[in-house]
Amino acid sequence: MIRGNDPILLTPGPLTTSLETKKAMLRDWGSWDADFNAITGTVCGDLVDVVHGAGSHVCVPLQGSGTFAVEAALGNLVPREGKVLVPQNGAYCQRILRILRYLGRAHVALDLREDEVAGAEKVEQALARDPSITHVAQVHCETGTGILNPLPEIAAACARQGKGLIVDAMSSLGAIDIDVSRYPVEAVVAASGKCVEGPPGMGFVIARQAALEKSQGNSHSLAMDLFDQWTYMRKTTQWRFTPPTHVVAALRCALDQFKAEGGTAARGARYARNCETLVAGMTGLGFRTFLPRALQAPIIVTFHAPADPNYAFKDFYERVKARGYVLYPGKLTQVETFRVGCIGAIDANEMRNVVAAIGETLREMGVRQVAPAQATAAA
Ligand SMILES: *Cc1c(COP(=O)(O)O)cnc(C)c1O
Repeated sequence: MIRGNDPILLTPGPLTTSLETKKAMLRDWGSWDADFNAITGTVCGDLVDVVHGAGSHVCVPLQGSGTFAVEAALGNLVPREGKVLVPQNGAYCQRILRILRYLGRAHVALDLREDEVAGAEKVEQALARDPSITHVAQVHCETGTGILNPLPEIAAACARQGKGLIVDAMSSLGAIDIDVSRYPVEAVVAASGKCVEGPPGMGFVIARQAALEKSQGNSHSLAMDLFDQWTYMRKTTQWRFTPPTHVVAALRCALDQFKAEGGTAARGARYARNCETLVAGMTGLGFRTFLPRALQAPIIVTFHAPADPNYAFKDFYERVKARGYVLYPGKLTQVETFRVGCIGAIDANEMRNVVAAIGETLREMGVRQVAPAQATAAA
């Protein structure tokens, strides 16, 4: 799938895009141009379809990275007197809490271990304990570790308790099914540069139209005012402020490839093959995954760092990169880890190749003790 000599990004966004998607950026567009604005319209329509939201939900695109869209969703859909429950099992959940502190929205964290899913039962108990909570903000796939939280069950719990659910589906949308027609979700937030395999630069909030309509005046920020962006776009078909034109055009092209591949089911299956190939190869080299298999989403895998004194991440990273593969540092505070993404325009061959590159790198560095220290102690 990959052409040329650029390194393969095994990072969870930006990620490796196809040549076709890159080529779609070789043209300039005017922001007033009707052809460009028609592209924005079809991109938004397709994104609503990805979550089965036609008729109930609308997509509001926003300039910026995914965090901008998460912040906009929270700032717009949670009223100023609202209160948000955040089941917390990783770095991106912590980022949501940070955003809520900045926004001055009341919130409460449901703290979990990083290798523990946000079970619906615990969420429902927390909601029952505190009737002043109005919303739940949930990360679907927590990219900090790669853990998959049970979205349908959490959504059902929110529905039973009458709370609005805002989902950070940044690293899952397009790879793991999200179906807002089967369980109520107030908003699904994601971005151009993750599993839809576009370049980074555009976030989007797929919001229940009725919730968005009620959100006027909630936003603390003009640039992040989703209600304003949506109403202006409906009236004029244009973005309020300069759109990331090349990103939108490339995302259009990436969505065409997404549909041609067979949508979420086919893409998720390709990523699952990538993930299985990676884990089997790395386990063969002696690595251990941080998460048990049952909790692992097929998006990104966290591996324990080798116990060998010759191992140092920076050196390891540079040597693997010289062989054509860009890895990702770990994001855990307690144990030393690194991460390898399974997403992007790559297939199982790339995963076999990166395992080979990692094996050569370990030999070159003189790393013999590949398993982590804890595993050795246990053995
Ligand atoms: C990538 C990602 C984000 C957004 O991060 P940015 O650096 O702003 O792109 C948010 N949540 C999750 C779960 C992510 O994977």
